[in-house]
Amino acid sequence: MKVSNFDLIPKEGKAFVYGLGKESINVAREIKNKRRDITVKGFIKDEMSNSKTILRSMIKNAIIPEFNNVKLWKNIEDLQDYDFIVIPYCCSLRAVQKMSKRNIYKYLLFDNKKEVTRKQMINANKNIKSYFLERDLGKKYYFEKSRSIRTFISTRCNAKCVFCAASSSVDAKFNMGIELFENVVRQFLQCNGCEISLSPNIGDPLVDKGFCEKVELAKNMGIKSIKMSTNGILLANEKIRQATLRFVSKMNISLPSFQPKEYSEIFGVEKGEQVAEGLLKLLQEKEQINSKVIVTLGLRLARPLNEVMSDEEMSPFLKYVKTGMLRLNPLIEMDNWSGTISDANMIGIMYQRKEENLIKDVPCTRIMKQPAVLPDGMIRLCACRYYRSNYDDLIVGDINEEPLKNIIFGKRHKEIIKNWIGGDLPVPCRQCTLYEPYLIAGWASKYRKIIGKTTGRIFHYFS
Ligand code: SF4
Ligand code: SF4
Repeated sequence: MKVSNFDLIPKEGKAFVYGLGKESINVAREIKNKRRDITVKGFIKDEMSNSKTILRSMIKNAIIPEFNNVKLWKNIEDLQDYDFIVIPYCCSLRAVQKMSKRNIYKYLLFDNKKEVTRKQMINANKNIKSYFLERDLGKKYYFEKSRSIRTFISTRCNAKCVFCAASSSVDAKFNMGIELFENVVRQFLQCNGCEISLSPNIGDPLVDKGFCEKVELAKNMGIKSIKMSTNGILLANEKIRQATLRFVSKMNISLPSFQPKEYSEIFGVEKGEQVAEGLLKLLQEKEQINSKVIVTLGLRLARPLNEVMSDEEMSPFLKYVKTGMLRLNPLIEMDNWSGTISDANMIGIMYQRKEENLIKDVPCTRIMKQPAVLPDGMIRLCACRYYRSNYDDLIVGDINEEPLKNIIFGKRHKEIIKNWIGGDLPVPCRQCTLYEPYLIAGWASKYRKIIGKTTGRIFHYFS
């Protein structure tokens, strides 16, 4: 199978490529071969690379003859005469942070993941079988390395985002009781767990009236890290802010921008000003008490990032972006929520990830290491997507009736993996475009060796 999304680079122009590792050079080569309208002007030195490795890499990869007259830049701020910067996804986090600090938003994140042929996948399946089914490494890996579980404390939500399938859900919406939450945390700690995420696939954790009590309890019981994603509407509540600053380690706040009209168009409720007010107070209080919580703006963009960052409503937040107190995680590529969300739901520059020919022979990573505890204690594989209901063929047990350690990689879980390898996929996975093949350490390098041509796809584009 051959897929190339280089065609999605939206315009001709002059580009710089971030970094000088293998991935950056691959990306530059692909642009050169496939997009003659784009001139690669140069490479930007990544702080991870030192000059010796750069030189070696340039010689080894014959970068000099191939890229005649390209320049190597050490400081992004010195860049002149370019239309955009291409960032390979592998170095996206540090690159995006670095650029946000300097108010540079003309970039494109590129995922140069490799595509796999069917024959290569069949070979891969042999390895999968021996790793996951015969040697039982999946369970060992999950409990020793992953040590994280998603706990849905609420499936209620106070927003109606256009790109979310919440309105298609037929499930009852409710919060998790405190006794059940305590039971989940206790059992998870007994399995060597150390991190819980409170982000449900639909719902907002702050809507749960027991949120403050639950995060404090989890911390006191010994959970090292609490993560969550929220729309931030209830950050206007002081008690919630205080609990977040004291007990939460990482918080992602999802929003399109602070412009009231755009907020209500995309998030379906008139709460843009309330989110801005709550977030600003949170950042001021974070600064005052030196709270360690990492706050990220998960921007669901309908307009280019530089436009959103220039909004008047954004101006009070820019100083926090520059100091790194507020991180940015912009997104314009949406998935299809197992077939529920379509192009018609996209607004502005948002677009849908298209994976029509996706081969799904290897189980999705979320089947292997992202189980969720639903608010009534049912355990479901995949904490991210569903098709109309969470109570489907991904349910593997009930923590009220069986210990968690027996449910994860228990009989039903293994049956699902085995069926997947045999070609029988769970219902929500069949059409899902969020699918990611699961690769474990050690196996990943074998996988890389057997896969073919580098292709890629664009995650986000900002100009
Ligand atoms: S994306 Fe999150 S905030 Fe938006 S409607 Fe869905 S669950 Fe609610
Ligand atoms: S394919 Fe989609 S629904 Fe299935 S486990 Fe992966 S993310 Fe979840």
